[in-house]
Amino acid sequence: MSVLKRLIEGFVDFRAGYWRENQPLFERLAREGQQPKVLIVACVDSRVDPGILTSTKPGDIFTIRNVAAIVPPYEPDGRHHGTSAALEFGVRALGVEHIVVLGHALCGGMRALLAEDDATLAQFEFLKPWTEIVRRAADTVRLGAPELDAVATQKAVEQAGVVVSMGNVLTFPWVREKVQAGTIAIHGWHFDFRNGELSAFDPREARFVPIAAASDPERSITSGNAEQLDTDRLLSHLVNNFRTRKPGMITASGTL
Ligand SMILES: [Zn+2]
Repeated sequence: MSVLKRLIEGFVDFRAGYWRENQPLFERLAREGQQPKVLIVACVDSRVDPGILTSTKPGDIFTIRNVAAIVPPYEPDGRHHGTSAALEFGVRALGVEHIVVLGHALCGGMRALLAEDDATLAQFEFLKPWTEIVRRAADTVRLGAPELDAVATQKAVEQAGVVVSMGNVLTFPWVREKVQAGTIAIHGWHFDFRNGELSAFDPREARFVPIAAASDPERSITSGNAEQLDTDRLLSHLVNNFRTRKPGMITASGTL
């Protein structure tokens, strides 16, 4: 069976099953419009689908997908900013209450940051300038924890990249205003599809904690801590936590 035929048959199944079963939901969404409370910034990676891994339904999450789940800084320069446009629509038009930056294991976009002398990557036109947005993540890990092996380095960069993007979210003035007003919270997640573990960034501890083990998996950047938020300090603490491997922290091989 051709790949596309499989998709078309999949759609036929969807229409006969899911769509029919959820017709009242689709009718309501058509009548009332969408009112998602959560905006997720995820990677384009085919292995990490935010809707599937959160068991949500149409209308629940407003999803932005790009290479490596990166949020660029606020740059109102009239150029083509797809991610910023989607962020603006989610925050200013839809009024989402949570913004989640969702990084993931084995992220090729983050790996590109670490493969500076890769000849194939060097030929690409758009990939490198895009991932350079979170260059700070790779540099902080390399300088701060040079002893980490390749697997741990990759994971540390993926998680550090989430933290850089969380900081960038706050550079958008209309996000910052809502965070200060207590109407938006910013979360950082990292999903490892190898062991099925979702970890949430704890800004107080500067580390990612598996949600099953976290005392408060909803701990986030809110009105209470946004003003003191220092991305560089958080990054260096995050990398330090990787080095010292405190009990309960996440390592490349799982939870210690
Ligand atoms: Zn990725």
